[in-house]
Amino acid sequence: MATDLRVSLTDRCNLRCTYCMPEAGLQWLAKPDLLTDDEVVRLVRIAVTQLGVTEVRFTGGEPLLRPGLPGVLERCAALRPRPRISLTTNGIGLHRTAKTLRTAGLDRVNVSLDTLRPEVFRTLTRRDRHRDVLEGLAAAHAAGLTPVKVNTVLMPGLNADEAPELLAWALDLGYQLRFIEQMPLDAQHGWRREELVTAEDILRRLGERFTLTPEGSARRGSAPAERWLVDGGPGTVGVIASVTRPFCRACDRTRLTADGQVRNCLFAREETDLRTALRSGEPDEALADLWRAAMWGKKASPDLDAPAFVQPDRPMSAIGG
Ligand code: SAM
Ligand code: SF4
Repeated sequence: MATDLRVSLTDRCNLRCTYCMPEAGLQWLAKPDLLTDDEVVRLVRIAVTQLGVTEVRFTGGEPLLRPGLPGVLERCAALRPRPRISLTTNGIGLHRTAKTLRTAGLDRVNVSLDTLRPEVFRTLTRRDRHRDVLEGLAAAHAAGLTPVKVNTVLMPGLNADEAPELLAWALDLGYQLRFIEQMPLDAQHGWRREELVTAEDILRRLGERFTLTPEGSARRGSAPAERWLVDGGPGTVGVIASVTRPFCRACDRTRLTADGQVRNCLFAREETDLRTALRSGEPDEALADLWRAAMWGKKASPDLDAPAFVQPDRPMSAIGG
């Protein structure tokens, strides 16, 4: 069974990254369809106490938009065995909340940032919030939400040339940078294979400025990022090559959407409805059984690089990265 749980707390977002959402946003889930805070905590408790989950990552949409986040974190941190708890966020608002979230029980954050240039940020996210993200990152670091990881998606003609600059910046500030290959998960189906900045491209660009050596035995286990020591270390850089070097075989993740559906894969075309079972009064054991069955039904890895690949109906923002 999967030991790494991703929980999406909302499908809404205050940015509109071009690789994720259309400019007009999406048809958001209606409030009654969202799991309540109590329901989220109950399902996380079942995952931790009955399914062997040891890592819980909250994501979205933008999870900082969820009003009950500190309370959810606090109650999850009180579970025994205590799971490790992290958050994937665009960082907006984190400069105000980092300390509170840390106190509530958050261990770490991954902040998504694709560029150091405010004007590129505006084009890419369609919002003028670059400074908020940088401040959020600094606050997370200061609050001890470490290691602070930065997730970056590169696009040709936009920010691909920034790869070395981004790495120098991250090393300087003590953030762990990870580049993620752009995946065909955008709501507007705009992904084009020929526009993909591949792991190989990224490593070549970084190699022009830095010496990269595979970290450890270069085995990545179930971690999706392959990591390299930069200039002999201790700084590192990760590359998540979801398209060109998929890691599905070693995947140990299970996903819960904001409306209470279990997904056994980012690319799954089917979901298991835990919310209906939960709201019809099923006991914890029955919910755990449903969840286990959902994970056993996991299909063989999809080949994202194949022309026959069919995108799931739910876009990335509604699944959680
Ligand atoms: N809003 C939060 C954020 O941006 O970190 C959390 C949700 S977002 C869907 C999670 C991660 O997915 C982000 O790091 C984002 O860059 C990444 N992402 C979104 N669309 C993607 C795509 N089409 N391919 C690769 N990564 C993507
Ligand atoms: Fe929002 Fe994250 Fe999607 Fe960007 S990647 S639009 S921040 S959910």
